[in-house]
Amino acid sequence: MSDAMQLTGLAPRAALAAVRQALEAAAVPDASFDARELYRLAVGRDPRLDDTPLTAEHAARLGKLTARRAGREPLQYIAGKWDFLDFTLDVGPGVLCPRADTEVVCEAAVDLLREMGKADPVVLDLCAGTGCLGLGVKRFVPGARVTCWEKSPEALPYLRRNAVNALKGAEVAVREGDVLTGWQDMEPGSVDLIVSNPPYLTGAEMQELMPETAREPAMALDGGADGLTFYRCLTGPWQKILRPGGWLVLEIGYEQRRAVLDLGEQNSWVNGTCRQDYGGNDRAILLQKPVDLG
Ligand code: GLN
Repeated sequence: MSDAMQLTGLAPRAALAAVRQALEAAAVPDASFDARELYRLAVGRDPRLDDTPLTAEHAARLGKLTARRAGREPLQYIAGKWDFLDFTLDVGPGVLCPRADTEVVCEAAVDLLREMGKADPVVLDLCAGTGCLGLGVKRFVPGARVTCWEKSPEALPYLRRNAVNALKGAEVAVREGDVLTGWQDMEPGSVDLIVSNPPYLTGAEMQELMPETAREPAMALDGGADGLTFYRCLTGPWQKILRPGGWLVLEIGYEQRRAVLDLGEQNSWVNGTCRQDYGGNDRAILLQKPVDLG
């Protein structure tokens, strides 16, 4: 695919077919969906509702976007914005793309907070990236006092923008910090719920990333040789930062249910359960700090 792709003057349906074919030739998954999205980005109209032949300017723009996607740049990075639950996040190179799989993790945290019934629970989103989890909590538990932690200097600018812009009239706090050591600076017993989508891919998985995932920051993906480095820390020293009876809600990889529940048991957490995402994969682990642990 080159920028010179001949799209000028084509009807929307024909242009869409040409884009889809170029994406299919580059083995892009979901080529039809992506073709429609690229059209919308380039032309500003829904191709299914459009009957205007492409101008040279729209054609040039669509050709460029198609070349980027055919080069396996994530669609989210090309769009620069992506929806999570019912709000929109700034996204781009340097930050992990928000994924639909993660919505169930947020829903689990919201359910637990509603059961808790506190008007203003203290919530941490650790390894926050775009802030999707912390913002999702704030969206549905408006009284929550949410702080999003992120270490990466490349991800922080996205997080800072989303923290103030993604929700209308509501904000979350941002803290620059390393989750593997940051528990040392926190007041024990001061937090009601921790939610986290930590890096969890194994060393072997890091070697065989999809081209799109390989464009995302390794820091957000690499969970160490066995993928469990962050779960050891989150189920370990972070426990004392939660108040007794507080909850830890973790996104996991689809094969990590047993390993993370075992870490929970070894570290005296109780009421461990797993929730599946809407694709039917194990995706969230919920662990409670016992009420009789100080
Ligand atoms: N879900 C991501 C993937 O498999 C991984 C995200 C993470 O490591 N937290 O591409």
